[in-house]
Amino acid sequence: MKALVYKGPRDVRVEKVPDPRIEQPTDVIVKITTTNICGSDLHMYEGRTDVEEGKILGHENLGEVIETGKSITRVKKGDLVCLPFNVSCGFCENCERGYTSACLTVNPGKAGGAYGYAGMGPYEGGQAEFLRVPFADFDCLVLPAGAEDQQSDYVMLADIWPTGYHATELACLLPGESVVIYGAGPVGLFAAYSAILKGASQVMIVDRLRDRLKLAAKIGATPIDDSKSSPVEQVLELTDGKGADKGCECVGYQAHDPNGHEHPNMTLNNLVESVKATGRLGVVGVFPSEDPTSKDSLEKQGQIAFDIGKFFEKGLSMGSGQTNVKTYNRHLAKLIQTGKAKPSFLVSHELPLDEAPEAYKRFDARETGWTKVVLKPGMAEAKKGQAASAGHQK
Ligand code: NAD
Ligand code: ZN
Repeated sequence: MKALVYKGPRDVRVEKVPDPRIEQPTDVIVKITTTNICGSDLHMYEGRTDVEEGKILGHENLGEVIETGKSITRVKKGDLVCLPFNVSCGFCENCERGYTSACLTVNPGKAGGAYGYAGMGPYEGGQAEFLRVPFADFDCLVLPAGAEDQQSDYVMLADIWPTGYHATELACLLPGESVVIYGAGPVGLFAAYSAILKGASQVMIVDRLRDRLKLAAKIGATPIDDSKSSPVEQVLELTDGKGADKGCECVGYQAHDPNGHEHPNMTLNNLVESVKATGRLGVVGVFPSEDPTSKDSLEKQGQIAFDIGKFFEKGLSMGSGQTNVKTYNRHLAKLIQTGKAKPSFLVSHELPLDEAPEAYKRFDARETGWTKVVLKPGMAEAKKGQAASAGHQK
């Protein structure tokens, strides 16, 4: 089959690799029809992880079940399924309590596994024609009739929408409250979308990329451009000097200033300043346990200079971590099915798999208009010969 393979920093290629096969009786094989490039893939793309050469990337996957292992009882051949990015067993003590992002079975010695990701177990990714899905009866979200025509909506349930939603849950955001979100990438935009669905009274979102801020305004959030003036001051101004009730971190360790200089502590310390005393922060932006390629000596060891004094003084609290996608995906799917949500609002490009390397390059450069790339492995033939930029741009 064809798959998008990591070769080295800023070098990914579509190559012929062996087809995946059923390895355990609890596996299924899915023919991938829709798969996204995620901001998390860019950490690997930029050479900021220890991902091994040859890994197939892709953890936001949707497709048709074409083969089932002997022990599979629920999922059927022909089902269209969306796969949580978490690979999880369903029976360990963390999965039992709903913490599928911290599964103890799938990545021994660590908590949690994922498709096509550095340090998340031996699982290949789905930016490919086919994918092996372990523990498939537990992990597959079987999509309702009619989902075939709305794949760019439903694929957002694999990671990015639940992750934005998770940020608001970790922050314990309640209807009527205000929230400030740092980062207007796909995760931040979905945190804003979720906050609005939850009935937040004011949703402020900080970034400096105009196209992303414009999209934020389009869904009803208040954009804050931190290249113009201090985002903290802008938030305080919008909240009568009090700060937002809640805050979400949707950037992670590669946070930088508008001139491009990295400061891994920048968003967390800005949140401490922008959220009111007794408020709460939800942190879903990734902070790795080590980052050997960082220029910052603390960050090399997975540490940052955090304003703990002000955090304590204000009585703030914080939740963090990977998303337990299964906690949210079923309910969020109902919002798509009933027409109450249309998460494909974020999609800027639908492209064949062959054009993935070019798409990585442009999404990584945060080129204007490249907000979210959806890859369609089945589209390859139809689009052959066209330049990446000529792909379906929404
Ligand atoms: P992205 O890189 O597309 O978006 C990040 C955005 O943050 C960009 O628009 C950038 O301009 C902005 N930004 C950078 N520095 C900033 C600053 N100092 N202040 C405000 N904005 C700033 O990535 P994404 O897909 O939106 O993902 C965001 C983070 O969430 C990444 O770290 C990703 O790995 C992580 N993530 C976590 C989970 C999880 O389960 N916790 C799941 C998916 C993604
Ligand atoms: Zn993702």
